[in-house]
Amino acid sequence: MKIHTIYKILLNHFGKQFWWPAETKFEIITGAILTQQTSWKNVEIAIRRLKIHKKLTPKAIYEIPLPELEEIIKPSGFYKIKARRLKNFVNFLFENYDGDLNKLSSLDESLLRKQLLSVNGIGKETADAIMLYAFDKLSFVVDGYTIRIFSRLGLINEIGYERVKRIFETNLPKNVEIYKEYHALIVELGKNFCRKIPKCLYCPLKKRCKYANNYDATKKIGKKN
Ligand code: SF4
Repeated sequence: MKIHTIYKILLNHFGKQFWWPAETKFEIITGAILTQQTSWKNVEIAIRRLKIHKKLTPKAIYEIPLPELEEIIKPSGFYKIKARRLKNFVNFLFENYDGDLNKLSSLDESLLRKQLLSVNGIGKETADAIMLYAFDKLSFVVDGYTIRIFSRLGLINEIGYERVKRIFETNLPKNVEIYKEYHALIVELGKNFCRKIPKCLYCPLKKRCKYANNYDATKKIGKKN
């Protein structure tokens, strides 16, 4: 129940985040792969370049030579690894689903997740982001911010991905829009307040936060910038 209450507080504070900003399912998948270990700003540049070169479709990525793809997505950082991961995904899509994202997304949730995780370079967070934002499946996304924030709040003491994911999924209404917004709101809180050195003084969760209460947020932690 508290997990849901926190969602309402964050939504009230930040407003709707409208994730994931993209024109197509494949753009979301590409963004989910490119965003690993880099800022969203760099991903946006790489995606814009893919669009300019008319390469933001599964078929175009399937056909493009690897060095050319690497060059286009260079601004996303770790571009050689990410180009290979994009290739891995589209190769998997063409070998198993005729290159058709709708065929892939028609699988039931647990099989779809297993299939995504079988692609070299797609880990749990990326698979869940694809499930939720590209395919509208009920699959909560856990990231580093989620673990940090909810550990500090005192609501989780588990750090295993699957366990944390289960805590959210069993304490929230089964609603894809809530899952989408909640993850986006967690990222917003993590970027603005619950950083490595937290800015508790202005945090909308400070009254409910074990970490802030233990350290007296108003005196010792939390200058805004
Ligand atoms: S009060 Fe501080 S520690 Fe707690 S969630 Fe907010 S920023 Fe993080």
